[in-house]
Amino acid sequence: MLYQRSSALFKEAQQVIPGGVNSPVRAFKAVGGTPIFAKSAKGAYVYDEDGNRFIDYINSWGPMLLGHAFPPVVDAVIEKTKEGTSFGMPTALETEIAELAVSMVPNIDKIRFVNSGTEACMSAIRLARGYTKKDKIIKFAGCYHGHSDSFLIAAGSGAVTFGTPNSPGVTQGTAKDTLLARYNDLENVKELVEANSSEIAAIIIEPVAGNMGCIPPIEGFLEGLKAICDANNMLLIFDEVMTGFRLAKGGVQELKSIDADIVCFGKVVGGGLPVGAFASRNEIMNHLAPLGPVYQAGTLSGNPLAMAAGLSMLRAINNDSGLMSRLEEKTKYLHNGIALALSKNNITHSINRVGSMISVHFSEDPVVDFESAAKGNNDTFKKFFHGLLDKGIYIAPSAFETWFITDALTYEDLNETIAAIEEVAKTL
Ligand SMILES: *Cc1c(COP(=O)(O)O)cnc(C)c1O
Repeated sequence: MLYQRSSALFKEAQQVIPGGVNSPVRAFKAVGGTPIFAKSAKGAYVYDEDGNRFIDYINSWGPMLLGHAFPPVVDAVIEKTKEGTSFGMPTALETEIAELAVSMVPNIDKIRFVNSGTEACMSAIRLARGYTKKDKIIKFAGCYHGHSDSFLIAAGSGAVTFGTPNSPGVTQGTAKDTLLARYNDLENVKELVEANSSEIAAIIIEPVAGNMGCIPPIEGFLEGLKAICDANNMLLIFDEVMTGFRLAKGGVQELKSIDADIVCFGKVVGGGLPVGAFASRNEIMNHLAPLGPVYQAGTLSGNPLAMAAGLSMLRAINNDSGLMSRLEEKTKYLHNGIALALSKNNITHSINRVGSMISVHFSEDPVVDFESAAKGNNDTFKKFFHGLLDKGIYIAPSAFETWFITDALTYEDLNETIAAIEEVAKTL
């Protein structure tokens, strides 16, 4: 495949945009080579500036659950645009999507819309701190909650000490309030809670992790966290920016029958427009301004175009009773195909899958946390990535990412993908 125009565009972009991209992972740094510049997309396919077609397994990093340019979303946005694109005043549309979201997601009374997943998670921990009147939070290594300061934290010197900044610009002062735990390790969480008794406001977690590959919670892990939170006057925050409206209509709370105290959304909830949201019961949400003292605001929050897109998306999901099982079947089919193709060629691998999230790790051991995810062979991944790209299959340009399966994928697309993987596997 030729990427001449993408190469030229990338050069030009780098003159005026840091690294040529507006979000770092797009730059292909982990895999090398030139990022392909998207021109358009439809259904399961994305087309680049050179006219190449790719079967898309990134899907804008999750939002396009029903495929690109999904007609109801496109139509809703076009119609709304004609009536004005922003008012800075409340609209009936915001109540409509809020009502629908509250009806789909278990255990929430109120929801507030923001502009990104980052904003949702940042606001959720502020709310948790304001509600519990405590400062510290626990997050898990390898979980991503957006790029706000409190979450850009690396492990400190000892397992029970506070974290250190993992980006310049994050202060020690902020880092000391974030404790870092190992995913799927309840004992580790208990140690942190004991060492910081009565100082922890909340535990925030991706209840099915998707930012170190797809990592499911082991049996009893989420239940254990819930029990620890309840016993210590801490809130359990589910960051469902990736899993919300994807793994079930009501997200992981519904899938695993566990009630979180605050839930964060993003990605699918905006149908491809910039939307995030956080939600909880009245008791907690009523602490937010203007009802309560915890401040949170946004000029473009609840933007009519974004809400129109989100509402169409949620309606489509809510009205399609077969959607989740269809997605799971397609993902399982792909899983089996990939596993066979790699095994035939003696490629060491392990595959994780939950619903429409799947990740392929080039390592022998099961991948259950950040440490085991990091053991994957990155050279093999790079070859795998570029091999697939050249065959018109677009997976995320990093070994730590999940593939997002869309309902727009046909079994023909899946077979084409599996055939490509079989070819590429011979070269690994
Ligand atoms: C993508 C993501 C975020 C950040 O959302 P943005 O819209 O990129 O700010 C937060 N949490 C999780 C779990 C995510 O996958």
